[in-house]
Amino acid sequence: MSSKELQVLEDYIQQNNLKITRQRRAVLNAFLECEKHVSAEELYRIVTQKDPKIGLATVYRTLSLLTHSQLASELDFGDGQKRYEHRYMHSHHDHMICTECGKIIEFNHPLIEKFQEEVASRNGFTITSHKLDIFGLCSECR
Ligand SMILES: [Zn+2]
Ligand SMILES: [Zn+2]
Repeated sequence: MSSKELQVLEDYIQQNNLKITRQRRAVLNAFLECEKHVSAEELYRIVTQKDPKIGLATVYRTLSLLTHSQLASELDFGDGQKRYEHRYMHSHHDHMICTECGKIIEFNHPLIEKFQEEVASRNGFTITSHKLDIFGLCSECR
């Protein structure tokens, strides 16, 4: 794995008087290898294939650490489980979610970003972050 991400996690963990355990490192590794919007349960299944002793609670706690240290973004598409994706060194994007098969499409449109800024500034509002989730049917489910 990239040592940069491990360094970010270790810095965060040290600042918060926590310990970088072998298990947390294993969860970080599995997360970094996973190029999708993964839920805690999915990541748990991946991690335990390599190390069956890691518990679901450890996966949850490590994902929380990854989110707080900004290595991961937490996503909630309203289907009852949170998902996580890489955040560190990744550019901003929004999501389209198929309500039939659960497919998640990432997109970024400069005009959407620009118009959001325009709407905000017209309201004297400064955007610090935003999420745009579009729900509907994908081309296969339509
Ligand atoms: Zn679909
Ligand atoms: Zn995404």
